Amino acid sequence: MTDMADADKKGDSQVVKLNKAELCPDDLLREQEAAFGRDIEKLKARRGEFVAVACPACGSADKKPAFAKFTFDYVQCGRCRTIYMNPRPSPAVMGDYYSNSENYKFWAEHIFPATEANRREKINRPWLDKIVDYCGRFSIPQGVLMEIGAGFGTFAALAGASGQFKKVLAVEPTPEMARSCRERGVTVIQKRIEEIGDDEIPAADVVVAFEVVEHLFEPKIFFQQAARRLRKGGLLVVSCPNGLGFDVQMLRDKALVVDPEHVNFFNPRSLTLLAESCGYSVLIAHTPGRLDAEYVHEAIVKGELDISGDPFLKRVLADEWDTLGWPFQQFLADNGLSSHMWLAARKN
Ligand SMILES: [Zn+2]
Repeated sequence: MTDMADADKKGDSQVVKLNKAELCPDDLLREQEAAFGRDIEKLKARRGEFVAVACPACGSADKKPAFAKFTFDYVQCGRCRTIYMNPRPSPAVMGDYYSNSENYKFWAEHIFPATEANRREKINRPWLDKIVDYCGRFSIPQGVLMEIGAGFGTFAALAGASGQFKKVLAVEPTPEMARSCRERGVTVIQKRIEEIGDDEIPAADVVVAFEVVEHLFEPKIFFQQAARRLRKGGLLVVSCPNGLGFDVQMLRDKALVVDPEHVNFFNPRSLTLLAESCGYSVLIAHTPGRLDAEYVHEAIVKGELDISGDPFLKRVLADEWDTLGWPFQQFLADNGLSSHMWLAARKN
């Protein structure tokens, strides 16, 4: 790996401020929580089909309890510190969950349409700029870009319209999501990545997957399949939560990102180990997140987190929030301490 300690400052120094209401308005959040609650009850009813696993990053069986949420247990790997749900829903249970999720339906029908413009401009456009920057820095041809788990299709549509790549392909197995991609003019392969034949699509120069690997029963298969689709020397870019970041470490089970859909909380080091074990050289592993401080601030304001015994954090995250909150977030992001991370790796 290279460049890791350097934390990829370039391209992130002009970070656009973001707040969570721009991504999900509070009035929609309440309805979404109710839909999600019903999904969670269905998942609890299938607990008998959950299976025990070893660490999804390094394979170690050495672990200790981390926390529980909605009665699901999370452990932390003793070797690489990945936090993961164990036992976890079997692949069949996960498949049924996503096919019938009321939460996803609500997101697709309400939250994404209401926030798509914000997401495109404040999240997806900076992502695209960053990927184009990587292509320049690491001499990656801007031929085929493939997005795995394209979801609603906002990023893939933006990448296609930008003209930065000769071809943009989206892989999205969920029928409603694939339709949404098509409505945005995106070329979609409506299959799971492992179901796509070798000659069915061209080899990719760049494969991206945003907020995908935390959902997967066996994320190693994802890295192997992405390698299968990439040209030698091609670029893989993955984003996901960082289990060792500020939001997750402070709020633990109360962190919004800790939910039953997220079964893997890697960290920059453990995700690097996983990528390297699947034939990649990691170029960048950093944490450009923008929301940790706000989540913790909000938990303090709501009385969910008591930091009265910690006057320094109370000053930064409560008393002088308006002036110190955002600079503190930038400090977290710049030093590998945010709960949202990126990994860029080259296929060997
Ligand atoms: Zn591990």
